[in-house]
Amino acid sequence: MIATDHALLIDGERVETGAWAEVRSPYSGEVIARVAKGGADEARRALDAAARVLHAPLPAHERARILDVVAGLLEERHDEAARLISAEAGKPLKAARVEAQRAVSTYTFAAVEARRLAGEVVPLDAAPAGEGKLAFTLRLPIGIVGAISPFNFPLNLVAHKIAPALAAGCPVVLKPASATPLSALFLAHLEEEAGLPAGWINVVVGSAGPIGDALVEDDRVKLITFTGSGEVGWGIAERAHRKRVKLELGNATPAIVCADAPPGTAAKLAANAFSFAGQSCISVQRIFVMDEAWDTFVSELVPAVRALRVGDPADEDTDVGPMITSGDRDRVLEWVHESKGEVLTGGDVAGDGLIRPTVIAGPAPNDRVQCEEVFGPVVTVTRTTSLDEAIELANATRYGLQAAIFSADLATCLRAARELEFGGVTVNEAPTFRADQMPYGGVKASGNTKEGPAWAVREMTEERLVVLQT
Ligand code: NAP
Repeated sequence: MIATDHALLIDGERVETGAWAEVRSPYSGEVIARVAKGGADEARRALDAAARVLHAPLPAHERARILDVVAGLLEERHDEAARLISAEAGKPLKAARVEAQRAVSTYTFAAVEARRLAGEVVPLDAAPAGEGKLAFTLRLPIGIVGAISPFNFPLNLVAHKIAPALAAGCPVVLKPASATPLSALFLAHLEEEAGLPAGWINVVVGSAGPIGDALVEDDRVKLITFTGSGEVGWGIAERAHRKRVKLELGNATPAIVCADAPPGTAAKLAANAFSFAGQSCISVQRIFVMDEAWDTFVSELVPAVRALRVGDPADEDTDVGPMITSGDRDRVLEWVHESKGEVLTGGDVAGDGLIRPTVIAGPAPNDRVQCEEVFGPVVTVTRTTSLDEAIELANATRYGLQAAIFSADLATCLRAARELEFGGVTVNEAPTFRADQMPYGGVKASGNTKEGPAWAVREMTEERLVVLQT
């Protein structure tokens, strides 16, 4: 790949700053691009542009049209988008193609929300004081949205912020992850190509602290939508008291496998623990298996994990690629080596330095692979004797994003759905499942919001009450 230079996007202009940040392939270490490095000044300039366009609102039909056009452009340029994701994030092409297709869906559903954004009629004459009056609410854009996105879904998680913001009528200042700014710039340019006027989408890449502080400190930013680690996310929420701060954070994703789990459960969990080397917030991490199912489950899981192909993410056959940095790889290996459990497969690196998919049986509860978010190609399996115990262990984490139960018994599944303390529970489906129109988000340390265009648009608007004396 020939390295290319990319400017920031501020107020419709390509902005260079004189300083450059390199974007490297997580697989080969090769420089694939340079991006102009911005800071607080560029963020403030972007905020000025966003504040200006708030005075020239776009009608709903125009916002919906632009969102639909972007969906079409993403469909047309699907291969290019997938290759970009794969190159900068080191995501295997197979998974990158799925992400690129999902972004089409995110834009399509955001267009629907732009068209149906409306308030409610309030039945005022239901009380004597309201006789002769009519009331309704308007749903108005909240104002400027500050968006901060992570490296692991560099296209679709940016889409989950900027598409609903446009549907809601809010201009955006986006700060994408430094490791993966190219997909974000690609998407912003597609919005321009679709006819979005200057100032509505601004992309400032660069030093996280100063750009983040500019978004937190500026009163014109009414909402910050953040996806990433809890440490950064909750820190922003603490500092930005007067803003809505919407957080999508990590998980230590559990799955409970009962004795009557459907055939194929082990293979399904194997695939969903290791795609993108476990660097998904809902990658399967902790599997709790009922005693009666243990032998069969483990004897199916281990060969399914060994069969995964580890290697170059640009290779169409690769299932598991690199971690985003060598530092992250070393951290995960350290956690594996210190675990008290038995390594059933993996636990080391393959020829090209990539961690081989790792299964650890019977970890100690306080092993970091069990109680922290691994965010790497590691899954643990723990034998349990009852559903009570499995639910208790699954809940024994500060996280609460998504969890799964596998059983043929409806009552068991419904009980787990009620008692698992997570934002979403999947039944006979991997907890890694996400469709873009569903409400997706965590409880406890995993966050405080739901994404999915219908839910995000509600967060990005506020209701104004209008009372008419008739
Ligand atoms: P991260 O290190 O927290 O980074 C996320 C974003 O925050 C990046 O753009 C980063 O910029 C920026 N950032 C860092 N320090 C900042 C600061 N002081 N002020 C403002 N912004 C700052 O997270 P990550 O490693 O990219 O992503 C992995 C985490 O995201 C995992 O915990 C994963 O579970 C979580 N995640 C959650 C979801 C979900 O939907 N719940 C989805 C995906 C990922 P730089 O890149 O420049 O440092």
